[in-house]
Amino acid sequence: AALYKIDGWGAPYFSVNAAGNIAVRPYGSATLPHQEIDLMKVVRKASDPKSAGGLGLQLPLIVRLPDVLRHRLESLHSAFDFAIRSSGYGAHYQGVYPVKCNQDRLIVEDVVEFGAPFRFGLEAGSKPELLLAMTCLARGNPEAFLICNGYKDEEYVALALLARTLNLNAVIVLEEEQELDTVVETSRRVGVKPVIGLRAKLRTRHSGHFGSTSGEKGKFGLTTAQILSVARKLQRLEMLDCLQLLHFHIGSQIPSTTLLADGVGEAAHIYCELVRLGAAMRVIDVGGGLGIDYDGSHSSGSDMSVGYGLDEYADAVVRAVQYACDRKGVRHPILCSESGRALVSHHSVLIFEAVSSTTAAACDPAAALGAGPTYFLDKLPDDARSDCRDLIAATFQAECDKVLIYMDELKRKCVEQFKDGRLRLEHLAAIDGLCELVANETGPAHPVRTYHVNLSLFTSMPDFWAIEQLFPIVPIHRLDQRPRVEGVLSDLTCDSDGKVDRFIGGRPSLPLHEFGGGGNDGGYYLGMFLGGAYQEALGGLHNLFGGPSVVRVTQSDGPHCFAVTRAVPGPSCADVLRAMQHEPELMFEALKRRAEESAARGGGVDAGAVATALARAFRSMPYLVVGGDSGGDGMS
Ligand code: PLP
Repeated sequence: AALYKIDGWGAPYFSVNAAGNIAVRPYGSATLPHQEIDLMKVVRKASDPKSAGGLGLQLPLIVRLPDVLRHRLESLHSAFDFAIRSSGYGAHYQGVYPVKCNQDRLIVEDVVEFGAPFRFGLEAGSKPELLLAMTCLARGNPEAFLICNGYKDEEYVALALLARTLNLNAVIVLEEEQELDTVVETSRRVGVKPVIGLRAKLRTRHSGHFGSTSGEKGKFGLTTAQILSVARKLQRLEMLDCLQLLHFHIGSQIPSTTLLADGVGEAAHIYCELVRLGAAMRVIDVGGGLGIDYDGSHSSGSDMSVGYGLDEYADAVVRAVQYACDRKGVRHPILCSESGRALVSHHSVLIFEAVSSTTAAACDPAAALGAGPTYFLDKLPDDARSDCRDLIAATFQAECDKVLIYMDELKRKCVEQFKDGRLRLEHLAAIDGLCELVANETGPAHPVRTYHVNLSLFTSMPDFWAIEQLFPIVPIHRLDQRPRVEGVLSDLTCDSDGKVDRFIGGRPSLPLHEFGGGGNDGGYYLGMFLGGAYQEALGGLHNLFGGPSVVRVTQSDGPHCFAVTRAVPGPSCADVLRAMQHEPELMFEALKRRAEESAARGGGVDAGAVATALARAFRSMPYLVVGGDSGGDGMS
């Protein structure tokens, strides 16, 4: 566990059990030892064929843990509750979940259900997000906010106003000054009074990767002059009572509470000024930015971590608003946050299998030429031969610097001679083999191996590729055995960027176990943790690898401590083809017809067998079938 820093990033949900597997404690420290969920048991249940009592799902697999989500939500709420009570703050906290972090229906429904006692709401940033938020919140607490962010046209505004007629507490947040005209005109047209918020462009700037949304040059929000202009316009229209909320967003993963307090303080003063100008202000929405600890360092100095927890975050927000309001004699507003990453990251674990690895040097130069070393050297052109002799001599004398120089020189010359037609393919292979042997002889005792994983990182960890975000990646079993290999991970896509070669803690490789020691499990399974926010929504279809299969696992009193309450196979080849406007049914018919024509011409083709194989291919998942069972029969 220490090797992978599990106690740092995993606490309080993930740990290693006596069997050497990752165990999940869904309620953190409130989980009793006999209630821990063994992730390997979940994988077995999900992936074993139906005939063996499993669900027959193909990996990769997302394991969703709604109990963890509930615990995150309740912890966030109680952190604010505690900060409010201990500082004597005069209003309550009611957060919203920004659905962009993961729009999966069950996740949003869970947030609404778990959050109902706390008036927890949703945030939408587009028309489809608004539609899903309206539908899910219809079963929630009527006081819960439905925060409507994002750029808006008349349709969006009309939809948000319609939400109010459905008794949903929708607030239209102006991202730009000109949106006010759309809101005023549309509300007149449909005869519904809006509740308006505005997004302030703060001067406080977050310096990290996610800071581009903040500061005066940030993409979103209204400047001071625009805020004043909106307030004056609303006053002229006698609609200042509609302006009730001030929103801002400093950026995701805010590194420290110092920066947070700075930004919240600035916003709180804008809030107070709006009160002074006569707006019916009652809510301050501090946006997202509540960070999580991806590398377990708990430090504001690391890009992959933050120097605070939920309690410190809540305390900083409460005190900064309280201080500004008390100075200006303004009533304390309701506090809202749009915390997405901190809410959903922990509750999804992505599990994938390593299917093979490169092994230590294989090619014997003599064998490559089909004879002994003398023959190998003799057959080389003169200068290459003398370079080889120099290289071998330097290797025997362990002169590492010289070895590197000779090796580069030899390779360069041999490639030139090959391009010139003077060397045969066998010569080139033999030179490569010699260099590999020499490198192993003089290089590190354990060279880094490449583990091939049955996964597309463009689909399942797009932020790793796009913004160099690191996620903790750990084998989910065999953690009672010392890993003896250092490895990097190479995915299935035909893309050299499809490689994980940076890991938390600044490591260029990951400690991994040798293949074949997994006992009954056979395979070697790895988990990517803390990826529940953004990754699924941002992931693409590179090489047409679709999303993973998904299981929803809740804690139960049964023998395994868990129950699978939902199992969804990942998209099939037909599904991903359809997403790119291909028509699998027509494709199938066209290929089948071709087989029938071929059979009719007497080409020895069994048209029926071809049709069966094609149908199976369209039904199967795009990922590799490991261990012979595709589970394809379970999909349609
Ligand atoms: N609110 C707004 C306006 C955002 O732009 C974002 C994300 O960038 C969020 C909320 C969610 O932020 P986080 O996931 O950091 O909580």
